[in-house]
Amino acid sequence: FFPTIKELPPDPLFGLKARYNADSRSDKVDLGIGAYRDNNGKPWILPAVKQAEIKLITSDDYNHEYLSISGFEPFLKEAAKIILGTESKAIKENRVVSQQSLSGTGALHVAGVFLKEFYYGGSKSIYLSSPTWANHQQIFRNLGLNVETYPYWNNDSKSLDLTGFLSSIKSAPEGSIFLLHACAHNPTGLDPSSEQWKQILYELEAKNHLIIFDSAYQGFASGDLEKDAFAIRYSIDQDIIKTPIIICQSFAKNCGMYGERVGAIHIINPINSTATLGAIKSQFNKIIRSEISNPPAYGSKIVSTILNDPNLKQQWEKDLITMSSRINKMRIELFNLLTHELKTPGNWEHIKSQTGMFSFTGLSSEMVARLESVHAIYLVSSGRASVAGLNDHNVKKVANAFDEVVRF
Ligand code: PMP
Repeated sequence: FFPTIKELPPDPLFGLKARYNADSRSDKVDLGIGAYRDNNGKPWILPAVKQAEIKLITSDDYNHEYLSISGFEPFLKEAAKIILGTESKAIKENRVVSQQSLSGTGALHVAGVFLKEFYYGGSKSIYLSSPTWANHQQIFRNLGLNVETYPYWNNDSKSLDLTGFLSSIKSAPEGSIFLLHACAHNPTGLDPSSEQWKQILYELEAKNHLIIFDSAYQGFASGDLEKDAFAIRYSIDQDIIKTPIIICQSFAKNCGMYGERVGAIHIINPINSTATLGAIKSQFNKIIRSEISNPPAYGSKIVSTILNDPNLKQQWEKDLITMSSRINKMRIELFNLLTHELKTPGNWEHIKSQTGMFSFTGLSSEMVARLESVHAIYLVSSGRASVAGLNDHNVKKVANAFDEVVRF
């Protein structure tokens, strides 16, 4: 019945997880999937989330009814403020349409479906950073969109290839779609500085390109929600970008609610046009209705409980600092061990300077394979390590193993 069907290899990331789970070595280390772990290597339920769950399920109006097709309105309203800022011009001028999505992945998918049908700018090609989160490619390719890449990471200098990035913006057909990681770039952990962001945004505007901001790590890079939204807020508040802007927002990482699939897609329209905004909303609704009928309720209600309660919101901001500062501490420890204690050949400065969940270590795929087979340390073959998997108990082992594979 399915004459052309072929079995695919396991997803690289989830396949890695399966090998890790099957490994019986007691000192194994998981630096694969980007999920926060506490100092004992355990998943962490944020105190803000725990408190919000109790508040939610003990409230009188708690139930499991369907949400509307747009999602949970009190969540959407606050989610827009989190990413755009409470004083956002776009919110004040009623230029924002928000739709709840299946976390960040679902938001990217809805963006792709929407743009495929309604966007007529440029060549309709979507430009992704090289490298990027592996799923970006297939989310858009599955929809039949043409995917291109722009230079991002200079492997020799382990820094941003700004020249390559800007020249790719200039040479792309006018009105192309550019996907930008709002902060904590995955997989490199390397973000443009604010001056570099300005240059990038001005060039994008000069060519009328349409931006999709993928915001999967707000609060994770710096511990500060505002700082991590710099590029987004600057584009909008300074009126830099005159075309619509799409934001794909995930609460998976910054609320530690990976499995609950809490997210939103927002479109910021350059003008307040009731007709356009209403049309966008209705088309989002049609996409959601046909694909998932209506968004999941539980996670969005928890995040909404946090965002709508000043005390819980304050606790959440503390939790963000707990997570980001533990990760930064591990970056420094790994750097110090490699550089000062083991004198491992090479420059490891980038481990310290990169931000967010990941570090692009610069280890080759052969070294990564040896880390797994000899040392029971698991990371993806690109050499990306989830720094959240490091802790006081395993960082020495990891540094020694990095040293051994580099010298091998
Ligand atoms: N974008 C990027 C860059 C990511 O790294 C991730 C998660 N790994 C996502 C989007 C989507 O995550 P989720 O669907 O879990 O929100």
